[in-house]
Amino acid sequence: MTLNSSPPSPATAAGPVAGARGGDAASSAARHDGVICFSHLRWNFVFQRPQHLMERFARSVPVVYVEEPVTAAADAVPVMAEARCPKTGVVVATPHLPPGCEGPARDQALSTLFTELARRHGLLRPLLWYYTPMLFAASRALPAAALVYDCMDELANFRFAPPELRIFEHELIAAADLVLTGGYSLYEAKCTLHPDVHPFPSSVDAAHFGQARQELPCPPDLAAIPGPRLGFYGVIDERIDLDLIDAIAAARPDWSLVMVGPLAKLSPDDLPRRPNIHYLGMKSYADLPAYLAHWDVAMMPFAINAATRFISPTKTPEYLAGGCPVVSTPITDVVRHFGRLQGVQIARTAEEVVAACAALLALPRGADSAWQVEADAMLADTSWDRTHAEIAAHVNRVVAARGDRRAGRPLHLVPQTPRRAPAVRTGGRKPHYDALVVGAGFAGAVMAERLAAHAGKRVLIIDRRPHIAGNAHDCVDAAGVLIHSYGPHIFHTNSADVFAYLSRFTTWRPYEHRVLAQVRGQLVPIPINRTTLNLLFGSNLTSDAEAAAFLAARAEPVAKILTSEDVVVSAVGRELYELFFRGYTRKQWALDPSALDRSVTARVPTRTDTDDRYFTDTFQAMPAQGYTRMFEAMLDHPRIDIETGVDFRDVMDGVRYGRLIFTGTIDEFFGHCYGPLPYRSLRFEHVTHDRAVYQPVATVNYPDEAVPYTRVTEFKHLTGQSHPRTSIVYEHPSDTGDPYYPIPREENQALFKRYEALAAARPEVTFVGRLATYRYYNMDQVVGQALATYRRLRAASAVATSTPAEPGRVPSRALMT
Ligand code: FAD
Ligand code: UDP
Repeated sequence: MTLNSSPPSPATAAGPVAGARGGDAASSAARHDGVICFSHLRWNFVFQRPQHLMERFARSVPVVYVEEPVTAAADAVPVMAEARCPKTGVVVATPHLPPGCEGPARDQALSTLFTELARRHGLLRPLLWYYTPMLFAASRALPAAALVYDCMDELANFRFAPPELRIFEHELIAAADLVLTGGYSLYEAKCTLHPDVHPFPSSVDAAHFGQARQELPCPPDLAAIPGPRLGFYGVIDERIDLDLIDAIAAARPDWSLVMVGPLAKLSPDDLPRRPNIHYLGMKSYADLPAYLAHWDVAMMPFAINAATRFISPTKTPEYLAGGCPVVSTPITDVVRHFGRLQGVQIARTAEEVVAACAALLALPRGADSAWQVEADAMLADTSWDRTHAEIAAHVNRVVAARGDRRAGRPLHLVPQTPRRAPAVRTGGRKPHYDALVVGAGFAGAVMAERLAAHAGKRVLIIDRRPHIAGNAHDCVDAAGVLIHSYGPHIFHTNSADVFAYLSRFTTWRPYEHRVLAQVRGQLVPIPINRTTLNLLFGSNLTSDAEAAAFLAARAEPVAKILTSEDVVVSAVGRELYELFFRGYTRKQWALDPSALDRSVTARVPTRTDTDDRYFTDTFQAMPAQGYTRMFEAMLDHPRIDIETGVDFRDVMDGVRYGRLIFTGTIDEFFGHCYGPLPYRSLRFEHVTHDRAVYQPVATVNYPDEAVPYTRVTEFKHLTGQSHPRTSIVYEHPSDTGDPYYPIPREENQALFKRYEALAAARPEVTFVGRLATYRYYNMDQVVGQALATYRRLRAASAVATSTPAEPGRVPSRALMT
């Protein structure tokens, strides 16, 4: 391979080659003209799945393999180095970026390099193939015949994985046409995240490793090592159980442990050292059979940890094809696919490994031996050619489907304004829907989407407000700034399911919320953390322990934590409680914290470290095009009609429907028959300033009771929008207005329970959402609740069959007033 800088490729610069190999698509629009593969693995590192698959694609179309960027000299400009592999034709492209080129600047530089790369190689409609989600953002602008995410590993569980990897992975999955997984455990982890996921465990080049069964000369560095030899080849990193290796070597000083492979993320000092442990370093793929030929047992001494939870080691079939029996720790995919073979022993402890090796050493060797015949039978159908052919068939299918969509309807059917349903009539024949959903917030939109898209039901969704998206509604204001109509909405969740579900309707902008509180004339972080304490008290606390001791000295023990006051006073003491919580809470709720359930202030933790994020959830991101766009995508279904600006009262007699899904206030539904449930409201004061930035973070809290509002939020921090002007919102708590907050108090809960009992007697109505279930829920909790509610409905078959409307099932107007 030769290295040069951005050379035009004579073979490909001429223009696109013929379409995908073996594709039966009718037109060139249904083909790809090559593959651009984005990978976290260097091409010249270990020879693995990417190399096997890309070399095979390269037999019929140009393949460009893009590695992760390397750091260039300080004054260098971004450049793409390219090298062509003479044997296979694969072009390996490595971006070189100057130091400090990070974040948006990095993506911008990479995006330019990728665009030029595609142009240079004549790739007008390439298949974009991803091993790493980290290069997705920068390659988004490339034209694509289709996107494939070939998920080899749960990279987010690996040591030093960047925290934003999960978010980028979800974005990639949302955008991908096809998702492949490198094993079955991974398949189980990903199959609910995308409609087109397929497991393709790594395969084996049996002829290559079969050479190990012949009389290959022993490599010199191995020849010097006495037998019996227990061998391993592969990357040596946090996935290897080093203590186990040490213990095996200690238990059998008469056996040699041979470790072949590069060291990654570990220092040589981390490795166990004994006279009978030998580290031979990385060998080429071509040389591996020679090593395997002279081992007595092949090892897979994997640690059982998060990094190995989903692995499906390629070496299992390779070792077996080489005629070497295997001992492995209990890796799920090894146990379930190979664990029953006589030639594969599963062992957890050093003692078990030693016993298993002793049994394997006693096995006869040779193609006729029973264990080898059994293993060969299992491998008979396995080959990289076959795996590649099956994958290529999937690729051709999704490329053709994308071509169809392009030729027909647009990919993103996102109407700018909600469609008006021609449905609701006051006279004549009333239209019929399987379900009427009242409220187009998160609860209603999720129910409508599931009922239409999953259960095939015809749905009418209505909202009394003039828009969809409920409290999460956002829009562009008169100045052109994207604002949240009902105060700041920051999406955060620990639920992969909820995040995956919403990712079907939006891409995301990673965003971590930070809040400062205006206290004693200065802005300090809230939640209270070590920085807050140092700033407020002029202290110099340098460790968690010091901050914890500082707080412990102030905290007032509380026998039983019942109220919102107890939560805070018992953690940080009265002074901080009064500074940060008492005034804010009294303004927000018109109640003293001592009269509020402990769950309210428990939402805001106390920290002893310097983490200044408001939330610590796994997924923290904002819908890239805003919430309203996301709702439009959710409700954009031919079986969903949307009617905004109408109250339930106005339509209940104008349509026939089977099931009613109600997401408004439950007490209103039952005509306040037990009296009104208390809610707290807000008045939003939106202001635009003629400057680009108003405050240092998205939200500043004002706990002082003398200030009439609770917090001020500047939207551009949330949305990332660039604009010469900026819009902010003040939140003024209020008794009157829309019901935003259920008020968590025991007596309110008791009153809600009475309404809930009425609801239980109305099985034809489903109550869901923050208002209908009177719960102080965040957006993700409402989505989770709605998805669970839908699943329960399905399970009960209540929506499985289309139920014609029965007049008696429609709630009477009397119940609504
Ligand atoms: P809603 O969004 O309230 O939707 C219910 C809809 O039903 C409304 O649009 C209403 O007009 C309609 N409706 C009611 N009755 C009728 C009727 N009779 N006829 C027709 N339509 C009717 N959550 C977070 O996760 N992160 C945040 O940062 C966050 N910030 C928030 C900030 C504020 C100021 C507020 C008030 C809430 C915040 N939330 C936040 C919570 C979030 O708004 C809710 O969890 C979520 O919007 C609840 O969705 P929902 O569908 O249950 O209710
Ligand atoms: N809170 C407070 N001071 C603050 C922030 C929060 O007293 O600076 C209390 C207050 O009672 C608030 C509750 O903690 O209602 C929950 O705060 P959160 O930010 O979760 O409120 P939300 O975003 O739901 O309005």
